[in-house]
Amino acid sequence: VIDPWQVIRIFPIIAMLTVAATTALAAHRSLPPQVPLPRPRPALLAPAVPDAPPQPSACQLELGQRAVFVPLPPLVGPGGCGATDVVRLDAVIMPGHAHVPVSPPAILRCSMATAVADWARADLGPELAGLGAPLKVIENYDSYDCRGMNRAAGAKLSEHGKANALDVRSFTLADGRTVRPTDPAASRAFREQMRASACARFMTVLGPGSDGYHEEHIHVDLSERPSRYRICHWEIRVPAATVDVPLPRPRPFTATSHRRL
Ligand SMILES: [Zn+2]
Repeated sequence: VIDPWQVIRIFPIIAMLTVAATTALAAHRSLPPQVPLPRPRPALLAPAVPDAPPQPSACQLELGQRAVFVPLPPLVGPGGCGATDVVRLDAVIMPGHAHVPVSPPAILRCSMATAVADWARADLGPELAGLGAPLKVIENYDSYDCRGMNRAAGAKLSEHGKANALDVRSFTLADGRTVRPTDPAASRAFREQMRASACARFMTVLGPGSDGYHEEHIHVDLSERPSRYRICHWEIRVPAATVDVPLPRPRPFTATSHRRL
């Protein structure tokens, strides 16, 4: 049952709202459209799947079985820098399934990332295990970097500029030890094994004694040279003699006696 007094009480409110709504609607209709609407696109021109990821390359399918990585878009830089089929190599999956991080992750073309993963799995792992603890982390000192050789301005483009090179400074073992392959105090047997395996796998290996720029890290790359010519320059240094060891007479110093290529 509707109370007639209630209808009378709310009637002015309903009337006011109706007038206000009608006025607003009329004002809206009289205004020109402020934002032009985009033309509807023909449905046939729209991409079927706009965000479909690119198909992984054959190299990436292979790499997925021995490394943790993220595919990256092609790299393009000035002066010939750049690469296609590039990945961010996060970790190597060792034969025992342990994940060995590359820290920080290395930006490499897939073929170089595969060479690094294979080297770590087949050679570096067993070589470092000989020191008494498994390999835990590979320290990446530099990977993709658009620059000239040895950071010299105007020099030939470094393989780093093609995402085809890795600089390794140290390894961390599971017991917390850090092993620096350029350290004369590090195991000589390990350094010789590492040099042999690196020089067998990569087209260029540069370490101490090569050119003065590689005293603190080892450079490896897959540079393509005519007739697949390889460069393997790493002088295995010996620790400085201590006071307990009788010193040989010093040889007369010559400008070239301390630098071998
Ligand atoms: Zn390098």
